[in-house]
Order: sequence, then C-alpha cells, then structure tokens
Amino acid sequence: MKNKELADIFDRWADILEFMGDNPYHIRAYRNAARLIRDLSEDIEVLAREGKLSSLPGIGQRLQAKILEFLRTGKIEEFEKLKQQVPDTVFTLLDIPGVGPKTVKLLYERLGIRSIEDLKRAIERGDLLKLPGFGLKKVEKIKKGIELMEKAGGRILLGVAVFIADRIVEQLKEHSAVERISVCGSTRRMKETVGDIDILATGKNLEIIEAFVNLPNVKEILWKGTKKATVIVEEGEQVDLRVIEPESYGSALQYFTGSKAHNIHLRTICLKMGYKLSEYGLFRGEEKIAGRTEEEIYSALGMDTPPPELREDTGEIEAAMEHRLPDLVGYGDIRGDLHIHSNWSDGASTIEDYVKKALEFGYKYIAITDHSKSLKVANGLSEEDLERRNYEIDKLNEKYRGKIKILKGTEVDILPDGSLDYSDEILAQLDFVVAAIHSRFSQDNTERILKAINNPYVNAVAHPTGRVIGQREGYPLDLEKIMKAAAETGTALEVNSYYNRLDLKDAHCRMAVKYGVKLVISTDSHHVDHMWMMKLGVGTARRGWVEKKDVLNAHGIRTIRKFVRDKRKKFGVS
Ligand SMILES: [Zn+2]
Ligand SMILES: [Zn+2]
Repeated sequence: MKNKELADIFDRWADILEFMGDNPYHIRAYRNAARLIRDLSEDIEVLAREGKLSSLPGIGQRLQAKILEFLRTGKIEEFEKLKQQVPDTVFTLLDIPGVGPKTVKLLYERLGIRSIEDLKRAIERGDLLKLPGFGLKKVEKIKKGIELMEKAGGRILLGVAVFIADRIVEQLKEHSAVERISVCGSTRRMKETVGDIDILATGKNLEIIEAFVNLPNVKEILWKGTKKATVIVEEGEQVDLRVIEPESYGSALQYFTGSKAHNIHLRTICLKMGYKLSEYGLFRGEEKIAGRTEEEIYSALGMDTPPPELREDTGEIEAAMEHRLPDLVGYGDIRGDLHIHSNWSDGASTIEDYVKKALEFGYKYIAITDHSKSLKVANGLSEEDLERRNYEIDKLNEKYRGKIKILKGTEVDILPDGSLDYSDEILAQLDFVVAAIHSRFSQDNTERILKAINNPYVNAVAHPTGRVIGQREGYPLDLEKIMKAAAETGTALEVNSYYNRLDLKDAHCRMAVKYGVKLVISTDSHHVDHMWMMKLGVGTARRGWVEKKDVLNAHGIRTIRKFVRDKRKKFGVS
C-alpha cells in the first residue's frame, strides 16, 4: 500500500505552504487529504484503479490528478519543484512536538537555524529570547519538545507494532511449514512503545524463512539465514523472525518476551534452586527438565505463569510463587465500546457503520459520544443537532432490537472553569456521558476535573491525563485526589485505547485499582477501522493489574445502566 507514503507527501506539502505563508484554505486542503489517506482502510491504488477517488470527501480534481501522477510515476512534479525552494534539513525541526511551520520559518529566517543541533545551541545561547513573541515559557516548551522527541528516539508505538505483528502472525499461521508462531518481546508484553518487533516460530525452518521474507508487505530484506531473518516492512519498521526447535519453544518464548528485569529475577531464583535457565530450556546440571512451553518452566519453579503483560518484576514473581496472581481482564471480556465519534461530529463513519462493526466484535452495546458544542474544531454538536442525532439512534435501536443497544452519549467538553458544555437538563437525557478536557494543556487541571466528577451526570472522564505519547506530556494533575473523588462519586476513569494516547497508562491503571476506581476501556474511534484498538487498552489495563471486576464495560448493559442510575441517586437527581 502506498497510502502512508502519499499521506506523508501531502503533509509535507502543507508544511512547505505554511512555511511560505500560503493561504490557510490551501494548506488545509493538503492537510485534510493527508489525514484522510492516512486513515483509509482501503488501498489507495485499488481505489484509483476502480475510479473511486472522486468518492473521497475533500479530494477534488486537482488532488486526484496529483494522486494519479504519484501512483503512475512514484512522484509529483509540482511537489518536487516546491521542495527545492526550502532547505530540507529545516523540516527535521517540524518533527519536534509543539513546533509548527511558522516557528520554523522564524527560526530559519532570523537565526539561520537549519537543524535540531542548531536549535539546541541557539537555546543555550539564549538567542531565541530575542525573537518576537518568544518568552521563557515558549522556549521552555520547545526544549521539552526536543527532550520528548529524543526520549521516544526510534521506538515504535505499541499500536503500530501490534498492527504489524498481528498481520505477520496471521499471514504465516496459514503456512503449512509453520507449527507454532507467536510475537514476543515488549509487543507481547503490550508495553506502550517497543524497540524491535520480534516473532518466534517452530516448524520447517527454511520454508518459514522463505515465506517470511516474501510476505507482501516486506520492503527490504536486511538479513537472511537458515533460522533467522530480519526485514523492513512497508511501515518502515524492522521485524525479526527466529525459528526455534520445538523442545525449546517455551523457553525461547519466555526468554525473548522478557522483560530483562523479570528474567534476571527469575534466574536468581533458578540459581538458588540449583537450576539454570536459558533460551534453550531449564536445566539441572546437564539434564533438561523443561522448555517446550512457558507453563512447564514456571511450574517446574513452583510458580504460576505470570501473563506476559505483568512481567516487569513489579511483584508478579512473588504473586506467582504464592499463587495469588490477579485474574486479569481478558481480551475477550469486553462487551461494548463507550467512546465513539460518529460523522455527526468529527468521526468519519456513520452510526450504523459502527453498529455493524460492533456486531462483528460481538459487542452488546456501544455509546456514540460525539463532541459537544464548544469544540468547534471537532464539529461539536449544538443541542439541536444532538437531538436530531438521538432521533437517528432511536430509529437504529428499533432496527437492531435484540442484537445490540446503541447508547446516546456525548464527550462533553470540560470548560476552563470546570463547568460542562451542555446543561444538566441536556445531559440528563443521555445514557452515558463522558467528560474530557481539550484545552489549556499546560496548567494544573485537577480542579477542573474534580468539578466535572462532581456533576451527577458525568459517568466517565476520558483520557484523564491528556498525554499524547511522544508528543505531549499529560497536564499536571493530583491523580490521587481525582481517583478518590472518582471512587467516591461513582465516576469511572477511562483507559483510552487510541494508539497514541493509552491514557490512563499502565501505572495509573494500577493506582486506580488500588483506589477502587471503576475503569472503562474505550477506543475513542473516529472511524470504524479504529475499533480494533480496544486490544491496546485492554493490554494497558492488564499491565496495570486490572481485573474484570474493575472494568465497567467488561459487563453487560444492565451494569452500565445501574452505574449511571446509582450516581444520579447518590446526588439526589434523576
Ligand atoms: Zn477527547
Ligand atoms: Zn473522543
């Protein structure tokens, strides 16, 4: 698929235009095209071949011609010319979170800054403060941005890794040479960012390696041996595949899943027992006593098998030895998705599209939570629009009666003073209310959130800390206060599963369990093709030792209704 490559071109095109001070309408057209193409589930080449480009919203004839030119020749002449007008090292600066084309232009024109190294030196010398509109705060923000970018340095977001790994495992599982196959490493542990994507298999090694390097999405073969190969896939990420002897599959899986800390602790236990553990098996002297499966190994050590998500040496080894591992919420436990944007606000799919997809997932309910009126950038719904949307939901509920329930919801904006963007009368008519902050990300937002939690109609706080992985740290918050209030009032906190959020993150989930807070694991989908990300949220919750009983939407609709009713009762409203 060339979708990503094309989307990158249009994004850069928008950057250049913005850099050159072109008109905003023009810039937006490229920006929107980039986003649309990036989010497409279909292959743009296939759409083009079938003559369906004109069905894409916002892609006019001129853009269509450019897309066709790219698909035909691999480049767009106009873009190639445009690029030459701007030094390209300048664009590395745009990768810094919080630095936009306007800032880059200023840095370049006034200070001659062309690279991140230039920028760092200029910050140190205090040069930036001499620029118009640059105060200490702004410079601090840029410094933070550079740090964030360097910290993320080359790591892959979990959602991207899972997407790639799942695809490869699915494709190879069908192959007759493959007996067993699994992803390992931090992807298997569902860590929020991962280094490389590692896959293990057993079976006929030469055939498996051959099949692997010839997968349709492989762009480049870096290394190919008889038992191991390394490739780059079209997303630009590196994937390693190892073929293991069946007798050692379990020990290799255990070894390559990690974490390092978990394995070090495990090995010291082995030493005390007079055993030796390696990727080849568990040994007593020369004798191999376990290795085929992970369970065999842990059980030989007198332990239960900790789920991969727990293997960070934060108490799971002790718990496994004392047979008190948590009964984690399972990937199949989720009964519905409670945070979804339809095309009534800024989503790209219709409510009915979501219903159909939800039925495929086996869900019993979904909540449509479009944005509220003040969030203009996300096409927030006026009260009248909300009513019309609810009418559509009523009709769909009739149509799908007995199959699935569609809940009328909103993602109501928490305004700067902590009040909500709809009146209580409006909120009272809804089935499920999610409240969220979408502004003032750098201030302490504890009070704002507490105020929302204390509204009888707010059922969950969405993406509670506001962080975006590798781009924005969460706003300062007194999470303890918030968790106490959530538990007391009967308000859930969300584990937002959208791939660059994962908010609450794993450590915060664990904290929530401690405070007795109910969680909802939701996708924040803006397209039906985002709904698979539920898996990322469940993985994050599992890393936080979250059990099924802690997760509201791991239960049926009656539990959801009761949760909503109970809070209203507590506040003496209906
Ligand atoms: Zn939101
Ligand atoms: Zn949302």
